[in-house]
Amino acid sequence: MAQTIRIALAGNPNSGKTSVFNNLTGSRQHVGNWPGVTVEKKEGRFFYDEVEVTVVDLPGTYGLTAYSLDERIAREFLLHETPDLVVAVIDSSNLERNLYLVAQFLELGLNLVLDLNMMDILEARGVSINTEALSSILGIPVVKTVANKGIGIDALRKAIVETATEQQKEITFKIDYDRDIEAEIETLSELLKDKKLSKPYPLRWLVVKLLEGDPEVLDQVKTWPQGKEIQQRVLESRIKLERHMGYDLETAIVERRYGFLDGLVRECSKKKLGIKERLDVSDRIDSVVLNKVLGIPIFLALIWLTFQLVFALGNPIADWIDALFGWLGGAVSAGIATIGGPVWLSSLVSDGIISGVGSVLVFLPNIMLLFLVIAILEDSGYMARAAFVMDRFMHALGLHGKSFIPLLIGFGCNIPGIMATRTLESRKDRILTILVNPLMSCSARLPIYILFAGAFFSKHQGLVLFSLYLTGMVLAILIARLFKTIFFKEEVAPLIMELPPYRMPQLKGVFIHMWERGSLFLRKAGTIIVAGVMAIWLLASLPIGVEYASQESLIGKLGSLFAPLLEPAGFGFWQAAVALIFGILAKEIVVGTLGTLYGVGQEGLRVALLQYFTPVSAYAFMLMCLIYIPCIPAIATIKRETNWRWTGLAVGYTLLLGWIVAVIFFQLASAFV
Ligand code: GDP
Ligand code: MG
Repeated sequence: MAQTIRIALAGNPNSGKTSVFNNLTGSRQHVGNWPGVTVEKKEGRFFYDEVEVTVVDLPGTYGLTAYSLDERIAREFLLHETPDLVVAVIDSSNLERNLYLVAQFLELGLNLVLDLNMMDILEARGVSINTEALSSILGIPVVKTVANKGIGIDALRKAIVETATEQQKEITFKIDYDRDIEAEIETLSELLKDKKLSKPYPLRWLVVKLLEGDPEVLDQVKTWPQGKEIQQRVLESRIKLERHMGYDLETAIVERRYGFLDGLVRECSKKKLGIKERLDVSDRIDSVVLNKVLGIPIFLALIWLTFQLVFALGNPIADWIDALFGWLGGAVSAGIATIGGPVWLSSLVSDGIISGVGSVLVFLPNIMLLFLVIAILEDSGYMARAAFVMDRFMHALGLHGKSFIPLLIGFGCNIPGIMATRTLESRKDRILTILVNPLMSCSARLPIYILFAGAFFSKHQGLVLFSLYLTGMVLAILIARLFKTIFFKEEVAPLIMELPPYRMPQLKGVFIHMWERGSLFLRKAGTIIVAGVMAIWLLASLPIGVEYASQESLIGKLGSLFAPLLEPAGFGFWQAAVALIFGILAKEIVVGTLGTLYGVGQEGLRVALLQYFTPVSAYAFMLMCLIYIPCIPAIATIKRETNWRWTGLAVGYTLLLGWIVAVIFFQLASAFV
């Protein structure tokens, strides 16, 4: 059996109702006059899913206050003929103004489908609408159409039939008219609650209309038994509110509705900027970001901010991971004990692997966050500016500006940084940039800083990190300058750098970039770091019978051999020497070694460090870790990109420089502190 429903198309004049109507109904339509008046009445039909739908094309209307004949017809029909469903056809290119009518329909409690017509115009302007958001806020289905081209009409048919045949949902839509007005609405609602309302009016709508002073509604109320009394009450409310606000109530109500719609449109629409607008915006941003005076401070401020963020968000997560590994170590050694496993195995697994790898992995959140911010800066187009800004600086010091990109990459990892020098044209620039790349503090060194800064400078962690990165950069520039005058003497070519317009980084792209780099850290933790900490554990346990990680162990002896060399830098004890030696495998192992030698857990590790280091020697140690010897994979890469001579220089100068800087710092700072 075929179901039949009756719907009406309503909307502002020229919103495309008739076009929608013609498309919906095709040839099944006829034209007559509205009863009693000579205004054209169009009616038509369509079938969808066995449902016969009669469509009435209403005259255009701006509101539901009956000012003109057209409006009166529309209102009359909507209020008294109660169609099963109303399709609000709106001109999306004038969204806010058109939604005003829709808001009124909703307040009236009509069963609605919203048709965002003229989407083509909106899209041509680069505006997109989030229909799901709009639909969920308004609580009605939303369909996009381009009626004059017949686009979206089928989806509209479907929405119409589905909505009309479903049970009508509870109306959740409500505009908040602010406290004072809402208070009056509430009192009046209370008063009118028991009155027999003429059928189609929802109570709230009626009250709002009365407050607005809608003449027709007022007339109707007058005919009620206590009509006079109610009118008097309404008048009192109006006077009270108007005195309160200082202007008339109707304006106030209209304003609130527009206020709501303004918010709604902001929430649900997004303007994509065209290339020209983007360039304009970029220019404006660049006039600040690339400013001669402000450029470098802004760059530094951004890096500083980055580190603040890395700590503020990363540390709490790091604590969880730390707790997890602490628990894991205990559980595993207990497990091995219960199955009667040997003590050495339990020690290898919990003291060695879990403790060592755990002490490195706790930095995963910080590192991921750092990469996240770097990815955002890259994808937004800021990194290209950073290179540009730093170029002035580097130029002054004799290095090509383009070299800054490989150096920037070096902050993530020196290996891709070194490989990125292939983009540089001149051999001199390539070699200089490769040589100083290890001074760019890569992420593997971050755990060391975080550990030590957390233990000794807990109030100024961000600042300490910032100072270390900065030291690396300044040293890189100085060394490049020095090597240039020693090994190369030609001039630097002038730089032209293209600056792409800024763009909004896309979530997906940013996360992919973050993951690409961050997963490298994870892989390293799973391979070279595990191997490193196992070797350290073994050396710390041998010869058999020795106390684990004591000075009599092999590792203690090895460390003791080198420790005196580190004495002038303030950390002349064997554990530090061992950490530095094994750190050459991968810099994370510095922390891994300390974790293996000093014990489980961040807290335990910090306490142990406090016994060995002072703030001054801790900072000297961080400087040493920053500068001394690139890790083995980086050394291999330098060899691949250059030759043994340059590789030897890179290893030699970093070791010497690291030691010199750490010693100078320690001696000077000790003299002053
Ligand atoms: P009505 O006054 O609401 O019945 O609107 P009409 O259907 O008469 O349409 C008004 C004008 O807008 C006509 O010239 C239509 O061709 C045009 N129009 C209707 N829908 C669209 C649309 O989706 N996109 C564009 N660009 N024009 C439309
Ligand atoms: Mg029309």
